[in-house]
Parts: sequence; C-alpha cells; structure tokens
Amino acid sequence: MLLLIRLLGFLAPIAVAGFLVIAFGMASQVEPSERWRVSLVAGAAAAAGLTTMALVGWSYFGWRLNHIAADLERTLELAEPIRIRESGIPGERRLARALNAASGAFIQVEARATHDRLTGIPNRETLLTILGAEVERAVRHSKPLSVAFIDIDRFKPINDTYGHASGDAVLRQVARLVAGGVRVNDTFGRYGGEEFMLILPETLPEDAVRLAEELRTLVQQEPLILPKDGTVKITISVGISGGRGAELQLDMLVDRADGAMYAAKSLGRNRTYLFRELDDNATIRRAPISNDRRAQATAIGQWASDTATQALASVLAPQPHHRGRPSDMIAALATGIGLEMGLPHEEIERIRIAALLHDLGKIAVPEEILDKPTALSDAEWQAIGEHPRIGQVILEQASNLREAIPVVLHHHERFNGGGYPHGLKGNEIPLGARIVAVADAYHAMVHERPYSAALTHEEAMDELQRNAGTQFDPAVVDQFRRVYEAAVPPDGLEEVYRLSERARGGLAHLEAAAPSDVDMPKAPERKRARGGDRPTSPLGQAAR
Ligand code: GH3
Ligand code: MG
Ligand code: MG
Repeated sequence: MLLLIRLLGFLAPIAVAGFLVIAFGMASQVEPSERWRVSLVAGAAAAAGLTTMALVGWSYFGWRLNHIAADLERTLELAEPIRIRESGIPGERRLARALNAASGAFIQVEARATHDRLTGIPNRETLLTILGAEVERAVRHSKPLSVAFIDIDRFKPINDTYGHASGDAVLRQVARLVAGGVRVNDTFGRYGGEEFMLILPETLPEDAVRLAEELRTLVQQEPLILPKDGTVKITISVGISGGRGAELQLDMLVDRADGAMYAAKSLGRNRTYLFRELDDNATIRRAPISNDRRAQATAIGQWASDTATQALASVLAPQPHHRGRPSDMIAALATGIGLEMGLPHEEIERIRIAALLHDLGKIAVPEEILDKPTALSDAEWQAIGEHPRIGQVILEQASNLREAIPVVLHHHERFNGGGYPHGLKGNEIPLGARIVAVADAYHAMVHERPYSAALTHEEAMDELQRNAGTQFDPAVVDQFRRVYEAAVPPDGLEEVYRLSERARGGLAHLEAAAPSDVDMPKAPERKRARGGDRPTSPLGQAAR
C-alpha cells in the first residue's frame, strides 16, 4: 500500500507535465471559441486526480493511525510497554518512536506510583487497594482471607552498626526472599519502613500461620549480604489476622494483624502470632508481674549487666591507657554531655557503658604494635584498625543472654494453649521453650518433691508420653524418648559442657551413654565452667 502511494506520489509531477503538454497541444488545434471546453476537461481531470490521491492518502494514514491508536489502547489496558513497529515514511517512524518512548515512561510512572522504589514490591497504597478488593470478594463468596504483618526484628541496630546502605540492602534481600516464598495468588508488599504486608486470599488464619512460619524460617536461615563486606542474619516477627466471609472488615483485619505483630514483638520476637480475642475466663494471664517483683527483677537484671560490664572492664583495667584501659574520665565526660543534651536516661546509660568499653577491641591487638614508639607499617595500622570491629564481636557474644528471653518467658506454656504466661499454643511457643518444658518436667518427676514421691525413669517416660500433645510438644517428647529411652545422663555440669562442646564443633548426633568414659573438657575450661570463681578471661590470652 505504502509503495503504491509513494509510486503515485513520484508519478504525479510527470503525469501533470504530460497532461499539460497534451492539453496545450489539443488547445492549439481547436477553435479559439472552443478552448474553454478543453480547459474545463483539463481542470476536471486534474481535480479528479487530486481527490483520488487525497482519498488514497487519507485512507492509508487513517488505517495506520488506527493501528497505532489500538496499540496505545492495549498499553493502557495491559499496563505493559507495547512496541509499535517503527516503519513507514520518516514522519511515521518518528511518531512510532515517540509513542514507544511515551509508553515506556508511562509504565515507569505507573510502577513508581504503585510499587516501592527500594524493593520493587507493591507499596502501601497498592496493598490497601488489593486488600479492599480481596475483602469484598471474600465477603461476596463467603471465602476465607488472612493478612500478615511482617516486621524485621531489631533492624535499627543494623542501620546503626553497618550504615543505611547496608540497611537498604537487607530490606531488599528480605523483600526478595519473602516474595519468592509466597504463593502466586498472595500479594506481598512493603507497608512502610521495615514493615511488610502479606495478603493471603482463600486462606484460613491457621494456614496463614503455617505459611508465615515457613517464611520466618526461610528468612532466619539466610545470611544476607552486606554491600561492604560480610553477612548478617536477621529475624522477623509476624502478626496474623483473618476470618471468613461476612466477618471480614478491612480496618479490623489491618488493626488486628498489626496488634498481633506487636504481640509477637513483646513475646520475644522471631515468632508468628495469630490474633485472638482474649476471654477473661481463659487461663491466659495477661496481668503483668507485680510492681514490687518487677522492681526486684529489674534490679537483678541491672546487677547482671553491671557485673558483665565490670568483668569486661576488669580485663582492660591492668592495661595502660593506650592499650584500652577504661577511663572514668571518658565515661564522666560522655555522660555529662548526654545529660546536658537532655537525652533519655537509658540512652545515657548506654553511652556511659560504651564510653568505658569503647577500646575493648584493643585487647586483641598485639602489645608490640600498641606499644611501638616508632612509625607503624601498613600491616600494623591495619591491625590497629581492626579494634572497633573486634570490640563489636566481643560485645555481641556478651549479649547472647538476650536470646534466652523467649525461652525463659515461655517455658511454662502448654502445647494445647493452656499454660502461662501467655497461653501460646503449638508452634507459637518457641521451640527452645518446648524443649526446656519437657526436660524441666522430666527432672521434676524423677526427683522427690514436697508434694509427691519421685517417679522411676520408666514412669516418668510414660508420664511424658501421656501428656504429649496436651502439655508437651509430641515431636519433642518423641525425640526425648529416642535419645534417652534407656537412661538419662547423671546430674552434673560435666555432661552439659561435654554436649555444648560437641554442639560448637557441629553436633552430629546425641549419645545416650553415660558420660563417665567420654572426653571431658580440659582442666582450665572445666574450672571456669563450674562457676564459683571469677571467670578467667579468655581475652587475656588473645592479647598475646
Ligand atoms: P523491633 O524489633 O522492635 O521492630 O526493632 P526495630 O529496630 O526493627 O524497630 P524500630 O521501629 O525501632 O526501627 C525501625 C528502623 O527502620 C528505624 C529506621 O531507621 C529503619 N528504616 C525504616 N525505613 C528504612 C529504609 O528504607 N532504609 C533503611 N536503611 N532503614 C530504614
Ligand atoms: Mg522492626
Ligand atoms: Mg518497625
């Protein structure tokens, strides 16, 4: 078609010239009085030719423009870029090019409005729009629907320790991990900050808990790569709410999932919590501990923290200042600045402790380097430059106690939800707490108590089995029976340290055998392990 029009375009001047020649020729042969007839025929022929040309051209361009318009309309419907073929005359090619560019830009603008820029997943507005539509659909068809709020645990320290770029990298990787772990019909997006939302259509809350637990495990196991160097592992807390059909309301779902997520945080983090109405008759005791006992507990906790600080400071105390000896002056100056700035007292406390221990890492830098009176070599500078990170590693190890919180808090929960203090059920109870509950119960059973006689090993095993599924996690009871069917190891710290040594070296399997014939830890370690005397610092040797 295009070729035909072009051909006609090229032929037009030749045709006009030929036509003029013929017209003049004819005009010279006819009577002057008849010449007007020739002019009339010539004019009519030229007009007919021009209108035909215009009609053909107009039809062709109409046809082409319709094609381009249809492509554009498809772009709007599909929300994905359409490539219009860049062909035809130069003007047409230019138009197609411009439209292609505009369609790409349109998609980009749309994606920016509906997706989060950092992670590339749907943003809060999109999530709420989709959730609104899903609630409507579930109500209309009486289908179940669940929502999960996912929040990264202790994310702020990642920003504080490794920098904002690392925080961003962690957010991106978490988003990718979770997005890869959800089902095709689920919608996963960033609700804000380090908080994500997962919309689970046609899913009962109990099934949502199962899926959330899979995601939580997935995130927990994956080392996330930091842009500078190294990796970090993080955990997430998940709050879930849901229901079926007419009982669903958007605001209620969001509020409850959010509330459940905060409950998961207050229960020790790294867990999934399903929202449930608390009924006053339930065994769940929501009342916090009494003020007196809270004060007592806080004092003991502070003592433990002070003791740990002192223990660390005492390692540095014999050192000269340039080797990191804690300076009261630095601590006093830093505390004074904090007070003057009106910082909250917890922050001032953190600064005071950090000021005392800020050079802790120098303990691992060789004395020859720290004491060297002459200029340092590059390698020596590098050794010095490691001391802040070494300090970080030491303090991270020292704060491992915090990880015990969820287990301590929940060791009296029952598998069927009838325990305390929170009435958690099944897998909501941290695994560590489920394990300690079985070990604790066995220990109580085989020992004499004021109110009951000691059971034999076999009786205690039977009692555990009887309560598997109600009080205890049946899977944990199974494991316990498998390992300790014949006998349990005798009381004593030796066995504990033998096993924890093995665990550190990668625990392949447990042996139920009595520990008398097994290798014990070396003497100095055992002495330390027994407690009692002041811990001899392993750092003292590291300094050499
Ligand atoms: P919790 O376990 O209680 O959730 O503790 P948290 O530290 O994760 O929670 P908090 O709400 O105290 O801190 C959230 C932090 O997330 C604070 C903020 O700096 C950080 N954050 C929010 N959005 C971004 C982001 O886009 N990039 C980075 N790098 N950090 C972000
Ligand atoms: Mg968080
Ligand atoms: Mg948060």
